This record gives sequence, C-alpha cells and structure tokens, in this order.
Amino acid sequence: MRVFKSVWQRYAPTPEIAWLLEQFRQMLNDCIRIGLAENVTSLKSLSLKAYRQLSGYDVASYYKLCAISAATGILRNYRKAKRKNPHVREPYARRPRLTTCYGFKVRYGELSLPIHAREHIRIPLNQHAQATINGFALRSVTLTEDRLSLAYSNEVQQLRPRGFIGIDRNLDNVTTATSDGSVKLFDLSEATRTKTTYEKVRSHLKRNDVRIRREISSKYGQKQRDKVKQVLHHASKLIVEEAKAKQYGITMEKLTGIRKLYRRGNWQGCWYRGRMNSWSYAELQRQIEYKSKWEGLPVIYVHPYGTSSRCSICGQKMKPEENRTLRCPSCGYVVDRDVNAAKNILARALRFGVVGLTSEAMVAEPASVRQSAKSMRGS
Ligand SMILES: [Zn+2]
Repeated sequence: MRVFKSVWQRYAPTPEIAWLLEQFRQMLNDCIRIGLAENVTSLKSLSLKAYRQLSGYDVASYYKLCAISAATGILRNYRKAKRKNPHVREPYARRPRLTTCYGFKVRYGELSLPIHAREHIRIPLNQHAQATINGFALRSVTLTEDRLSLAYSNEVQQLRPRGFIGIDRNLDNVTTATSDGSVKLFDLSEATRTKTTYEKVRSHLKRNDVRIRREISSKYGQKQRDKVKQVLHHASKLIVEEAKAKQYGITMEKLTGIRKLYRRGNWQGCWYRGRMNSWSYAELQRQIEYKSKWEGLPVIYVHPYGTSSRCSICGQKMKPEENRTLRCPSCGYVVDRDVNAAKNILARALRFGVVGLTSEAMVAEPASVRQSAKSMRGS
C-alpha cells in the first residue's frame, strides 16, 4: 500500500517565483471560468476545452496540466456545494497556490522547478526538509507566497490489527479507549485558548478597507491554525505511537458536517468559531489518519449516531449528571461522557469484524444504530 506524508518550510520567493505563482493563479481562474461556462468538471473534457486557451501563457506546459487538474477539483467541490446551497459563490482563486507533480527535482539540497520550457529555478531546502524526505519518493511540490511543501510516499504492508483504539474528539480534549481496556485523555484546551485569543485580536480589527482587513485577518488565521496544528500534532503523535506499540488499528467517528458539532453544544453559535472548530476536528483526524497509515495501521470510520448518548455497556439512552458524567438508568453504569463516547466508537469498530472479537467487547445497540452502521458500510 502506498502511503503519503508531507513536509513544509518557509522560503523567500524571488521575482521569478512570484511571477510563476501569479501566472498559475490566472491560468487556474481561466480554467475555472471555462469550466463554469461549459459546465464541465471532468479532467478530460476540461483539458479539451481549456488547454488551447492557455497557449498565451509562457510557462512550462506542466503547469497548464496542473492548473486544469486543480480547476477540476475546485469545480467538483463547487458543484457539490451548489447542490446543497444554490446561492454558494462561484469559485475564484484569490491567493496564489501552485501544486505540481511533474518536472521538479531535488538535488544537492535544492529544489529545482521548471519555469519556462528549458529554464529552471532553484529553491534551497532547509536541513529539516532534506532529512525528512531522504530515502523516499517525492510525489509533489506545493508553493504558496512564503511556504513550500513536499509530498513524499512510502510503500508499507498493512498490519492485521490486534485490537483498536477508539478516539473521541471534544472541544477541549481527545479521549481514547483501547481494546485492552485502557482509557486516556489528551488535553487540547491550549488550542481552544489560542483560538479565543486570536478571535479577540480579530474582532478589534476595525480597518474600513475590506481588502486590508481580509489580509490581516487571514494572516492571523494562518498563525492561529499553525498554533492549533502544533497542539494537535502532539496529541496525534502520542496516539499513533501507542497504536504502533500495541499494533492496534484506529477508529474514529465519521464527521457529518457541522451539525454534530453543534449538537455537542460546546460553544455559543459564533459562525467563525464554528468553522474554526470543524476545521480543527477534521485536522486532528487528518493527522491521525496519515500518521497511522504511514505505520501500516488500518483506520476505520464509524457512524457517529448515538455515540455520545448511548450506554457503552448496554446501549440504552443515558441521563446526564453533573461534571460531564452520564448514568445509565438501565444498568446503572456511571461514566464520564467522553470516555463513554470513546468506548462506543471502539465497540462499533470491533463490530465491523475486522479483528477476532472478544465477547466483552461486543455491545448491544438499538436497531436504529445497527441500521445506520449498515448503511454506512454500504456507502
Ligand atoms: Zn447501560
């Protein structure tokens, strides 16, 4: 199985690189415009419609293909979003961002990228990036105004897991429950605090110019995301290390939009914070998934229905008590709600029959849950 990781570093763009990025952004917007006008989203038909119209751009032809392929992705997402909300804004690339899988090389500590047909530009790589990619196959390069990121791959054998780690994410923590009965809690409140501080800074930006405000606030957004990512990396690393040591697979809830996050009732309905939170939920899953896959550990997603409200022993609806604990009126089980959710997620993974099941791990659940689990497996 081929698995992927990436490493990034900052760099100082030369005028040539800035020029290339801007050309790419314009080509991408041309492709998006053509795709919208012709109503096409497939790579093949967009290539037929758009490639010739990009002939005016004096860049290596690799980038034309990359722009077309990036545009198909954007157009597909747009089409999907439009089905849900007909008023969604038409896509347009504002910031330069270039991804290419072709034509680049790393040699003598430098990334070499074609710019025109036979002309290359070079960007020095730092020690960390060089050491990280050493020995792996490079897959793609992504450039933005001040960062470059290299994706690399490895071939691994997928392990047959001896058990699972169930992971439940909450606003302030991530809780894990494992097949061998251990339960752990990783504190994420530092990430939440970071978010609140940056939000205060943002709310004090009262510049009238929308463009400036957008620029400043996206700069803060980036810093904030970096800070939150760091906190999440710490937790995801520890979780995957435990999974690796025990040869356990990973199981998480399938995130179904923002609704589930609302249901948790952890914040006060602020649109921005809601977006930030759903981003950070998805980011933690992304990190855990790629780190696990890199180690050959299987990752499975289970249906979230009822994981936070049903008893992880008998499957009955639980009653909330104080201090985030739940009590089961049917079997009398009293448990922390996050621990209960993690155990439910774990139990659902075991029911998928990936590993030899111990009877204690099997949990009876209401028919509606079994039904939804079945429909998820089908999808
Ligand atoms: Zn119970």
